[in-house]
Amino acid sequence: MRALEADVVVVGAGLAGLSAARRIKQAGREVVVLEARDRVGGRTLNEPIGDGKIVEIGGQWVGPTQHRALSAIEDLGLETFPTYGEGRNLFERRGRIRSYRGTIPKLNPLALAETGVVIARINRMARGVDPEAPWASPEAGRLDSQTFASWIGRHVRTAAARDLMKLAIWAVWAAEPEDISLLHVLFYVRSAGSFEDLIDTEGGAQDARVVGGAQLISLGLADALGDSVELSSPARRIEHRPDSVAVASDAVTVTARRAIVAMPPVLAGRLVYDPALPSIRDGLTQRMAQGAVVKCMAIYPEPFWRAEGLSGQVTSSDGPVSVIYDNSPPDGSPGVLLAFLEGRAARRASGLAAPERRELVIGCLRRFFGDRAGAPDAYVEKAWPNDEWSRGCYGGFMPPGAWIENGPALRKPIGPIHWAGAETAVVWNGYMDGAISAGERAADDALSALAG
Ligand SMILES: Cc1cc2nc3c(=O)[nH]c(=O)nc-3n(C[C@H](O)[C@H](O)[C@H](O)COP(=O)(O)OP(=O)(O)OC[C@H]3O[C@@H](n4cnc5c(N)ncnc54)[C@H](O)[C@@H]3O)c2cc1C
Repeated sequence: MRALEADVVVVGAGLAGLSAARRIKQAGREVVVLEARDRVGGRTLNEPIGDGKIVEIGGQWVGPTQHRALSAIEDLGLETFPTYGEGRNLFERRGRIRSYRGTIPKLNPLALAETGVVIARINRMARGVDPEAPWASPEAGRLDSQTFASWIGRHVRTAAARDLMKLAIWAVWAAEPEDISLLHVLFYVRSAGSFEDLIDTEGGAQDARVVGGAQLISLGLADALGDSVELSSPARRIEHRPDSVAVASDAVTVTARRAIVAMPPVLAGRLVYDPALPSIRDGLTQRMAQGAVVKCMAIYPEPFWRAEGLSGQVTSSDGPVSVIYDNSPPDGSPGVLLAFLEGRAARRASGLAAPERRELVIGCLRRFFGDRAGAPDAYVEKAWPNDEWSRGCYGGFMPPGAWIENGPALRKPIGPIHWAGAETAVVWNGYMDGAISAGERAADDALSALAG
């Protein structure tokens, strides 16, 4: 067991931890990053598919209002390209597949009108939520005492509009409407800007991709940190005093003046703290659950669906695959279909053997794109709930009551320990953009404490 000393020890080398460490290093302070895995990037992950090409099995898209992510991409000399969206999209509901253009599928006029009204209402309610302190917003208690499902049950009349709302919860939060607090949905919408910012491809969160894959952002940040990153070093125990902290990992122990824990709350709650943390913080890590996603990619010689006038984008309220995208590289070769299992479908599929999951997903692709989709050259997938160092994704979400009871503990430092990770972001919470800004915010707080 090696012993290291630093001004700040960062736990977790995802985008948040790496952004925090870069900021600390730029301020001329000593930093050590402990990372459990044998790689950096956390929930960003490239998978090579031959010929120098990759697919992304973790986070990938960036949108035009994700300024922190876009400037990190630019600073590292990386480029983006638009998500493929030419042609007709497909929508499946109650066994029928229909094609449409734009974001909202063709529904009957009543359901379509109601969907517009519901989205406008959600946006209006979200504007009343303070993204810095959702628990202190007007009516926070009432909003946090109900699930999104119970709100839909009371306020959305048409079955088709309800199905669309359920699809949105799957696609954005990777949870079920009955899992999630209404206040959390409103907070998240506010943190992103609007409901449309979350669900749209063009102009929204799915607007563009990083040439070479989003993990290049993490790898670029880590490069600048040199040997400050200790891989294969899962932190297990944090001993903290008012002005010092010692983090013990399997490989190395780091003594520092401040610590930044940069990981989803559910994983932060699995570390041992000495002394034990206050109950409000422990309650937060007991309650803030991770969403569930299995991200799957089927790889074909070419994107054959494009020649048929299809964009490759599908939404299905029947499932188990809920969302599909054309995820081919910028030059369109090879053709890649990306299929998501989300929420309950992902939880169930995570318990299956990989070949069974593959059959489930390929069966869905064949339903939408015909027999050619049934015979990919290659298939890549990752069941994120099974990953010891993520235990789900896209991010953490609050069930009813958690914001009110435990929200104030989300970012508040405890002694020398600061909290980062996409789940602590005020802007674009849960996204790569939020991870970067959360890391930088925690670093600024730690630097102020060091200076004080
Ligand atoms: C399938 C998928 C699709 C996504 N799609 C998008 C998208 O298109 N656009 C977008 O913006 N976002 C997307 N996201 C979300 C985005 O990837 C995350 O919000 C972001 O990468 C989180 O960064 P982070 O640093 O906060 O956390 P993480 O990336 O989770 O980093 C935490 C790090 O801590 C490490 N760790 C955990 N426990 C320990 C321990 N005990 N000791 C040491 N290290 C530990 C982990 O290994 C990890 O490296 C997606 C995520 C997934 C998984």
